[in-house]
Amino acid sequence: MQTMGSKLLAIVRVPENERVRCQNPGCGHGVHAAIHIVREGGVLMVLGSTCFERRYGSAKALGQPQFNFGGSGRPLTTEERELLDTNTDLLLARFEEEERQRLIREQAQAQEQEQEQEQEQRRLAAQMEERRREAQRLAARSTVAFDPREKLRALRAAFANKVIQEPVPRVFTQHQEPDGPVAPPSPPWAQEVKLNGSFFCYAFDDGSKWVLYPHKKGDYVLRPWPAAEEGWDEALPPSLGRPEPESGFYRVTDHMGFLHAVARFSTGLRNTSNPAEIHHEFEVLARKA
Ligand SMILES: [Zn+2]
Repeated sequence: MQTMGSKLLAIVRVPENERVRCQNPGCGHGVHAAIHIVREGGVLMVLGSTCFERRYGSAKALGQPQFNFGGSGRPLTTEERELLDTNTDLLLARFEEEERQRLIREQAQAQEQEQEQEQEQRRLAAQMEERRREAQRLAARSTVAFDPREKLRALRAAFANKVIQEPVPRVFTQHQEPDGPVAPPSPPWAQEVKLNGSFFCYAFDDGSKWVLYPHKKGDYVLRPWPAAEEGWDEALPPSLGRPEPESGFYRVTDHMGFLHAVARFSTGLRNTSNPAEIHHEFEVLARKA
């Protein structure tokens, strides 16, 4: 056995009609497939597979070839076939150069893949960032977006707390005759109503009461009933009306929008053209509730 110090360099093959001579001492057969190139000591040898096994004990005795081409060995070009016979060292140098080039290509490919992966990661990160921003934009928009019912409830709740903490006495505008029935009050602001306009009495589901009427100077206006309590001008969302504290009412510029929104949180509505009956209309609403 010559295993020690022996190295299998490559397995090659040549066309059958261009066989090379097996260099195992005493053999000299022409071989064409699975030609084993071995370095033994300082000497290069070209062996047929049979002589290789005989010389080293088995086909796998020296392990995988240094230049591993896989399969049944690397087919040689005519030029390489010449080198195998005349200058095996040069052929091996070519294999080595080939191997070097292959490694460079592989490294370049690996690098390229890495760059592509990095790019893909950056793209995904950018996409996620964009989605996050979009979600923020949507969230911001929906916070700003008007939901009259929610807004009103929140404000009403805040208002209710305020009222409990600092109770404000209600101002009753009607006066009671000593012996007679309750005199129907006609609030002083009733004269603001547009000619032939009506008063719409609203009870909201938070218990608050409001009177809507067309103002003679234009637009509908909405007044708290029976009187303005502290925080009245913060009770409604801006989209329902703009508070005008000096006048004590909300100006409702979008009448249709107001009716539409208010329908969702009013528990009752009555209307009258007689301002003295407003009090009565709210009593009727209260009885119905
Ligand atoms: Zn042989």
